Amino acid sequence: ARVDNPYAGANGYINPDYAAQVNAAAAAKGGTLGAAMAKVAQQPTAVWLDRIAAINGANGAKGLAAHLDAALAQQTSSGKQVVATIVIYDLPNRDCSALASNGELLIANNGLARYKTEYIDPIVAIMSQSKYASLRISTILEPDSLPNLITNLSFAKCAEANSTGAYVDGVAYAAGKLHAIPNVYTYVDVAHSGWLGWDSNLTPFVNLMATLASRTTGGYSAYDGFVSNTANTTPTIEPYMTATQSIGGNPVRSANFYQWNQYIDEQSFVQALRTALIAKGFPSTIGMMIDTSRNGWGGSARPAGASTSTDLNTFVNATKIDRRIHRGNWCNQNGAGIGFRPQANPAAGLDAYVWIKPPGESDGASAFIPNDEGKGADPMCDPTYTGNSLNGNNLTNALPNAPLAGKWFPAQFEQLVTNAYPAL
Ligand code: BGC
Repeated sequence: ARVDNPYAGANGYINPDYAAQVNAAAAAKGGTLGAAMAKVAQQPTAVWLDRIAAINGANGAKGLAAHLDAALAQQTSSGKQVVATIVIYDLPNRDCSALASNGELLIANNGLARYKTEYIDPIVAIMSQSKYASLRISTILEPDSLPNLITNLSFAKCAEANSTGAYVDGVAYAAGKLHAIPNVYTYVDVAHSGWLGWDSNLTPFVNLMATLASRTTGGYSAYDGFVSNTANTTPTIEPYMTATQSIGGNPVRSANFYQWNQYIDEQSFVQALRTALIAKGFPSTIGMMIDTSRNGWGGSARPAGASTSTDLNTFVNATKIDRRIHRGNWCNQNGAGIGFRPQANPAAGLDAYVWIKPPGESDGASAFIPNDEGKGADPMCDPTYTGNSLNGNNLTNALPNAPLAGKWFPAQFEQLVTNAYPAL
């Protein structure tokens, strides 16, 4: 039977493919750092079904059925309920405002129909098998897709996703089919506070979620919750200041870094968003989640407390644990660290902190690397690129020489472990 929070009372699924990669990196490093790295292999991470071929397993990786079989085995050996988190990520015109994670399907090339029949339907066929009925399966629906419809319609591929209705139709189809399986839970991606945290973005997004529900079989009740910060580095909590605190007569949120955004961290953002979604018609049982895999911001550059400056920008820049230059920077962020460990019920309104982006997997490459997945070279992954409107024309703060999105990036993994907060 469906429970309110699938993460409560359950162990997260440990992906053996990812754990093996992490253990190999830990063994190669050795010493104290290697020991810290090895602890990452004991944490649950999400499985990304990032193309049709991933359903059956591509390039030696397990397919969906093999992962669910392994999850069942973990459930048997531990004697405890297991929850497996699966990312649904193959909409046509995917990653429409960037290039790093462009996908295999295009709207103009019958992509929505293919998404439904060649991607969602086979996933549903596997997840609905009776042998998996004792598992809890949590699905993360299409990172960054619907948020792109709120702010990025100046990009042709986003405009097409909007005008054709393909993003809304695709997510609604997925949620309707997935939620019909009694042990499958649906969480819709809501980007992060630095993207949707202004009322002028949040209100249209809540309206879009209502439209989404109206087009979904099952309506509002087809949605179990929402998830923020997927693959991003926005802090869960800024510990040493609040958005409304006054510095030199000005609120923190008016600092250059926050640009009057209402929310300076993810927890305050998702709690407010949850309230707005419930007011709009979603059930009060919805729970929020935050991807905490890379938003810890520990290490030697982490402030130890609030600045004493009375100059607002000086105060904010010296007080924030978020070491980025601009909140629009997203690719392989230099200085980031692993954040809170996955856990259920971490705060009011939240179902869980989860690790959706597996730490050490790249966000994208700056130089073109031939591939059969649709992924492009993204200047936001080039540390020498001086930016665009989405990051206020700043440097990107990306680590150099990254591999293709999703591929193992040893230098990044080492930094994420070194800067973990809480420490590993
Ligand atoms: C990539 C996916 C990958 C995921 C997890 C995304 O940025 O596009 O291919 O599976 O990250 O690393």
